[in-house]
Amino acid sequence: MNGAPRINAGRLLESLEALGRFGALPGGGTNRLALSDADRAARDWTVDRMHALDMTVRVDAIGNVFATYAGTEQRAPVLTGSHIDTVRTGGLYDGNYGVLAGLEVVATLREAGLRTRRPIEVAFFTNEEGARFQPDMLGSLVAVGGLPLAEALATRGIDGATVGEELQRIGYAGQAPVGAPQVDSFIELHIEQGPVLHQQGVDIGVVEGVQGICWLEFTLEGCSNHAGTTPMVLRRDAGLVAARITAFAHELALRYGGRQLATVGAVELRPNLVNVIAQRAVMTVDLRNTDGAALARAEAEMLGFATRCAAEHGVVLGHRRLARFDPVAFDPALVELVAQEAQELGLSTLRLPSGAGHDAQMLARVCPSAMIFVPSVDGLSHNPGEHTEAHHLVQGAQVLLQVLTRLANRAG
Ligand SMILES: [Zn+2]
Repeated sequence: MNGAPRINAGRLLESLEALGRFGALPGGGTNRLALSDADRAARDWTVDRMHALDMTVRVDAIGNVFATYAGTEQRAPVLTGSHIDTVRTGGLYDGNYGVLAGLEVVATLREAGLRTRRPIEVAFFTNEEGARFQPDMLGSLVAVGGLPLAEALATRGIDGATVGEELQRIGYAGQAPVGAPQVDSFIELHIEQGPVLHQQGVDIGVVEGVQGICWLEFTLEGCSNHAGTTPMVLRRDAGLVAARITAFAHELALRYGGRQLATVGAVELRPNLVNVIAQRAVMTVDLRNTDGAALARAEAEMLGFATRCAAEHGVVLGHRRLARFDPVAFDPALVELVAQEAQELGLSTLRLPSGAGHDAQMLARVCPSAMIFVPSVDGLSHNPGEHTEAHHLVQGAQVLLQVLTRLANRAG
């Protein structure tokens, strides 16, 4: 693809700044929760941009927006895109970059007077972050038929409003059907949101898949008592059990090695006083692995340990699974294509799994899918200080252009 046109760096960077003004935080970054007024304004701006590129825009019943750049043949489109909602303390790049780079690819092709055989579509999906409505990746999950529309529309957010009400309110309850998308393939360009590429000085991450995730919640009921008068052997200390579960999770991840991760990110003790044995502890354990079998073993081991440890200390254990997604492996041929196109541009590449969830893992259920990562400075994301260097933003968009045109023009 040496003859491929070059994307317009200035236009891409300006568009990221422009979209970042919707829901802008005083010190930088954005607060643009899904289906908020700021999200509506950002959606309107993005849709205007799609129309300005003569793309055909459709909105589906869960508010996902698709814009089509027609091909020379009537065929299933090659799809790219991401999301434009952010967390409360979001940056300018998470999600937005993938959408705007997709539109930059179309703008570049259009200026060069080029049409591909298959259409190229650019989408943004509703509520990817999950910061207002859960689950996250809601729009893409509904799009691929992974969650019934009615259930998704009835989902109540942190402020009490439902997805359906808010879609109506902001004017994005669309008509296009959901559940069985006709898509040739899907490529999502995204910032890494982790430190690996930046640390190793690599230009492009070739994403092989998304790690599996399991969230457990343990509720431990012991007995509060006087810290000065209760002998150690007579205690039913929920705080102690929580601490032992925390240490076990850490040791489990080290023992498993490979890509096993374990995090206890939340522990609440009651009554949480210096001189009172904790009567109650509620805690979470976040387990992740690219190996689904290992993840299942880790979950079983955590439960087994928590059960034994609670019994040993006279504490009553309750548990809930808050989330569980199996690992996703992206399409090997598409992964290879991403690597090839990056290398043809003289860029360094590294194959890696995604540590975070992305819309691409949902699309992978219905069509060959893959992702392209660019480095995040210091691995910072979900933070107003989130940053990717301009030359990396430009390089990633150029790789996206070449992968999309290659896919959209291929024979067969
Ligand atoms: Zn994202």
